[in-house]
Amino acid sequence: MKKIGLFGGTFNPIHFGHLRSAEEIFDSFHLDRIIFIPSAYPPHKITDGLAPASLRVDMVHLAIAGNPRFSLSELEVHRPGKSYSVETIGHFRRQFGSETDLYFILGLDAFLEINTWKQYTALFELCHFIVMNRPGFENNFSREHLPVELAEDFCYDEQKGGYIHSSGYGVFPKEITALDISSTKIRDYLQKGLSVKYLMPAPVEEFIYRNNLYQTKDSESVD
Ligand code: ATP
Repeated sequence: MKKIGLFGGTFNPIHFGHLRSAEEIFDSFHLDRIIFIPSAYPPHKITDGLAPASLRVDMVHLAIAGNPRFSLSELEVHRPGKSYSVETIGHFRRQFGSETDLYFILGLDAFLEINTWKQYTALFELCHFIVMNRPGFENNFSREHLPVELAEDFCYDEQKGGYIHSSGYGVFPKEITALDISSTKIRDYLQKGLSVKYLMPAPVEEFIYRNNLYQTKDSESVD
């Protein structure tokens, strides 16, 4: 059975918090690949200050270059309208078939909002979830973090280290090296003219300066 990680995000811009956590998850879950999936129009985020999707894709491309564990999908960027995970996961389910296990990767901050996602109950019947801790959010994942309406559908499996849904797919909390980096912080530093060195790969940083992203109000645009 192949195991593929799906890592969705706005990646506005991508940073070491994303990259290091993906690297650790790849090892812990013995994945065959992690696919980074930049979203076009995230339904749950304020799109002020969102760099054009094509440029966010370019930055992910630069960030993962040379790492054979990682790849990039432009699926959401090319799909018209908002980016819904249920459609994205469904797409990869069809593409990879039943011989591949899919693991959707997200931070606890995002997981706590999952009950606002489109058809969220269906998500737990489509793939596994890996939920990473994130500085600033409660560290220890517990049963209370599961969507209240669905809590009874999950059973904790000590051996598997996760909450297993009646569908057979699980929610696996994963402790990763805590890096208190966010895209918001990076955009804020850039606006203030502060250095963003060592928060992201150097080629991404160079790309941001070359394209004058995030540094002025004028550079904020959505494509
Ligand atoms: P923003 O600050 O603009 O909200 P972000 O830094 O949270 O952006 P996203 O692209 O929204 O980045 O993140 C994609 C996914 O990666 C989300 O599930 C988020 O929880 C997770 N993530 C982002 N940064 C970290 C981090 N430093 N540690 C762990 N998970 C992270």
